[in-house]
Amino acid sequence: MNTLSMQSKLLEITQALSKKIILNGKLIDTSRKQTYVVINPATLTEIGQLPICTIEEMNAAANSAKLAYPAWSKLPAPKRSALIRQVAQHIAENVTLLAEIISFETGKAYKTESLVEANLIADIFHYYAGLALESKGETIPYDPDILTLTLREPIGVIGAIIPWNVPLMLMAMKVAPALVAGNTVVLKPSPEASFCILKTVDLMNQILPPGILNVVTGDASTGKELVTHPEIKKITFTGSVESGRAVYQAAASKIIPVTLELGGKSPIIICEDAPIEPSAQRIIEGMRFTRQGQSCTAASRILVHKKISKQIVDSVLEKLNKLKMGDPLDESTDIGSIISQRQFDKINYFLDIAKKDASLTIHYANDLPKEAHLKNGLFLRPCLITDIKNTHELCQKEIFGPVTTIIEWDNFDEAIKMANDTEFGLAAGIFTQDITRALQAAHELDAGFVQINQYQVFRPSMPFGGFKHSGIGKEASCKAMIEHFTKEKTILINMKKV
Ligand code: NAD
Repeated sequence: MNTLSMQSKLLEITQALSKKIILNGKLIDTSRKQTYVVINPATLTEIGQLPICTIEEMNAAANSAKLAYPAWSKLPAPKRSALIRQVAQHIAENVTLLAEIISFETGKAYKTESLVEANLIADIFHYYAGLALESKGETIPYDPDILTLTLREPIGVIGAIIPWNVPLMLMAMKVAPALVAGNTVVLKPSPEASFCILKTVDLMNQILPPGILNVVTGDASTGKELVTHPEIKKITFTGSVESGRAVYQAAASKIIPVTLELGGKSPIIICEDAPIEPSAQRIIEGMRFTRQGQSCTAASRILVHKKISKQIVDSVLEKLNKLKMGDPLDESTDIGSIISQRQFDKINYFLDIAKKDASLTIHYANDLPKEAHLKNGLFLRPCLITDIKNTHELCQKEIFGPVTTIIEWDNFDEAIKMANDTEFGLAAGIFTQDITRALQAAHELDAGFVQINQYQVFRPSMPFGGFKHSGIGKEASCKAMIEHFTKEKTILINMKKV
């Protein structure tokens, strides 16, 4: 099927999902007057509308999750596990369609991004299905006559809020552990990536009991209503620092637990002994240029030893130029479009700062697509900025676009210091053949996820979460499920006759 016929097939799907939310296991039509118009960013054409949920709809979603909670939380863990495993299998059977919807809605390239993401969420549900029996407490030595133990119990109705950049993966990272631990969920996706979520949750609800997973749509105002809703007993949030701060404040006034996965300005340190070609390849992957740099862990500060800086820049540009920017649905495309006009304008704002600063050098790669149907699309050429200092605004603010900075150093301790000189602490990497330097960096880099001689490797079993303004708490791993989706109860049993 060519991409234009694919677009008409996908348009039918997004229009069928338009103005719908998911309550009590079903897609429900809303007659909302207030809607969010969803634009395909690669073609700049309308593909559907989302309701901005009202308080009545929020109440209905929270109530649906509340009513489903007693039966779901009391379901024996092996049965919950079996259902989540079936969900994983059902998703695995539908990855092609789900990946196409992600690309159609977000502009991410099908081959390099959306298909990888759709496959990963099946893995995440499989992984958590296997952990249902691991939500366990411990016994505490105290008195031989008093058995002292802890239980891990589900929290209740969880409010999950996610952004647009990897919508299915971030949904799975929250929903899978929340459900496996016995909670029910009200999910609020980003308005820029809700159709892929509605479609996936609809598929999941063909297996799950009604009401345990509900979806409300809308913008920040809907997110605020979700956080403040009295039935919501915990918030798990992924998004920007600014929104995360507002979520944290609102949750504080309710005194409910919060997990925050926020932004980043992640460094990769390239030492003078690092091999040029593999390091350049890892920089391209690390910066997620195939996702137009729209990644929380994007390696947007490359701290490179000045002896090899020019070789690294040349090699990165040469490799980038071999990638094809184009129609996200076309299987020969490596790089798609930016998500939205809002994000496009934000990136251009930072590019304008770079253009006006005569001390900086901007190196562009790739060509913009030439196809007629993409002529209005939100495409931007990847770029590297050199002759820049770590203190520059472009090295300190999260751009969330295809712009990375190359910062030179000649003193290793200074490189580590610069790497840590940021409000963020999400991820970091180092490339070197010197084990002493690698270990020193692993200890001293102030970030939650550090990799040596590789960068964008992630599996759901690895605790993931940032330090400093990059967030609070962890996602992924069995430990994160227990810590963030259960509450701990201590029980003392007097075994003597009373
Ligand atoms: P955003 O903060 O604008 O929105 C994220 C979600 O929160 C959306 O669903 C939005 O509608 C909702 N929201 C916004 N304000 C809210 C409020 N006051 N109360 C409740 N909900 C609110 O972020 P975005 O532009 O969608 O996503 C990009 C950001 O997400 C970047 O900063 C990126 O680094 C971050 N991110 C972090 C991770 C991570 O794991 N740390 C992963 C992906 C993206």
